[in-house]
Amino acid sequence: MLRITDLKLSLDHPESALKRAILEQLAIPESDLIGFNIFKRSYDARKKTAIILIYTIDVELKNESEALTRLNKQSNISATPDTSYKFVAHVHDNKFKRPIVIGFGPCGLFAALLLAEMGYRPIVLERGKTVRERTKDTWGLWRKRELHPESNVQFGEGGAGTFSDGKLYSQIKDPKHYGRKVITEFVKAGAPEEILYVSKPHIGTFRLVKMIEEMRHNIETLGGEIRFEQKVTDIDIKNGEVCGVRVNDGEYIESNHVVLAIGHSARDTFQMLYDKGVYIEAKPFSIGFRIEHPQSVIDKARFGPNAGNEILGAADYKLVHHAKNGRSVYSFCMCPGGTVVAATSEPGRVVTNGMSQYSRNERNANSAIVVGISPEDYPGNPLAGIDLQRKLEERAYKMGGESYNAPGQLIGDFIKGIKSTELGNVTPSYKPGVTLCNLADALPDFAINAIREAIPEFDKKIKGFAMNDGILTGIETRTSSPIRIKRTDDSLQSLNTKGLYPAGEGAGYAGGILSAGVDGIKIAEAVALSINADS
Ligand code: FAD
Repeated sequence: MLRITDLKLSLDHPESALKRAILEQLAIPESDLIGFNIFKRSYDARKKTAIILIYTIDVELKNESEALTRLNKQSNISATPDTSYKFVAHVHDNKFKRPIVIGFGPCGLFAALLLAEMGYRPIVLERGKTVRERTKDTWGLWRKRELHPESNVQFGEGGAGTFSDGKLYSQIKDPKHYGRKVITEFVKAGAPEEILYVSKPHIGTFRLVKMIEEMRHNIETLGGEIRFEQKVTDIDIKNGEVCGVRVNDGEYIESNHVVLAIGHSARDTFQMLYDKGVYIEAKPFSIGFRIEHPQSVIDKARFGPNAGNEILGAADYKLVHHAKNGRSVYSFCMCPGGTVVAATSEPGRVVTNGMSQYSRNERNANSAIVVGISPEDYPGNPLAGIDLQRKLEERAYKMGGESYNAPGQLIGDFIKGIKSTELGNVTPSYKPGVTLCNLADALPDFAINAIREAIPEFDKKIKGFAMNDGILTGIETRTSSPIRIKRTDDSLQSLNTKGLYPAGEGAGYAGGILSAGVDGIKIAEAVALSINADS
């Protein structure tokens, strides 16, 4: 196969134009072309009236080597690289103790899948419930204000991203194409095929639920075991090495290879690890609000007369502003045509996040607008960032009326610094509800000042962003983990605890579904190689 990159066509090109463009690029007659497929499709919407689609195409030809030699000066044509996944190890005897994977979010899921595929029969321990049961519990908070501390948006099969927009892009360096393995496995499990080629793929929450079940069955068929409602409450460490874990303060399971894929909300587990002496350090994270606008405002600002185009879908945005007080404000986890969701895992606290369905056809666009903070803002022990998160989440709970309502404010009122008393034209999507207030009381002054300065600046890029009736709801505190459980660069084991593999978002090694899945693959490889070296 050979690959053509940077093939540009107008947004409204007919299907036949793609084939014509390929033949033109390669200067070949149609009879030489065996077939082609789209590897990637993105768009350039800088000129709203003339939006361009940009393709990367893999082409099969009758005489590929001739074409490659003839076109070797054309920088956008080359041999298609092999991005298929190659296993690094296989079980060679059965004497090893089975590896344990703690947590069944995207990181644990891919660590377990890869270990199972290589024959290492992992045992997965997940504190939450199966994805179906968990869905009911999660809706319990959104509909009835009932929080299940062990089964919610953060905890349970599928991890934190299950009730999400299912965005699958990341800016991580991925020289070994692990991201392709993640996406390919998702498609095998039922994700729409287009995620293989669109530049900003997303799955939406309903499909994710089914896919996760499918992947669980796959792991089990390969000899893995997945146990739910199994919280790891202790880790047995002797002479700096992991020997096993204790579950729900009872059963002890022996293992010398324990993957810690616990996500960023397992605060009790972080504390347990810290108390056991596992090396942990504080890391920067961000705090802020969710912002909601009508999706039509964002579509119009981004796509002009092409708003509503089926190929472009609901528009997203990515914004950054460096405020005068030295803080950076940025948009994060933007969910086009989605809803704001209640995302706490602890009683008496309020946290917001966003999700959407595959169709992204809800009325509002939402995104976190957050300010970066770093350990200087929460000095103390490595877990001090968690104390700050809890303090802010408790304050938000109180401001919302102690009912799991989120505190909210109209954008115009927030900029003016006055309490909101009445909603305008935008209905907030957060369930169970929003209590109008003055959000200036919800976060430290530096964060409020930076966000207040940023919103009008963002309006210069997305017209309507500072609209009076848009809604802010609070608060966002779980943008990423407030700690890093450091690991070595080569063996990927904890700096001071052999056999413990800190992984994924909670350990500070991923931010998002795709990068967490990629990290799971890396960790599975490290575990497999270590087991083989030991046996
Ligand atoms: P998690 O997904 O957090 O999984 C950790 C798992 O470990 C959990 O299931 C938890 O129950 C379990 N666990 C914790 N402690 C223990 C213990 N002691 N014993 C046993 N099990 C334990 N990212 C995107 O890329 N795109 C999006 O569109 C997107 N939207 C999001 C929307 C929402 C509402 C949320 C909350 C997050 C969203 N994210 C999104 C972020 C994404 O979900 C996370 O980055 C990702 O899930 C991290 O994966 P992980 O496997 O490292 O951790």
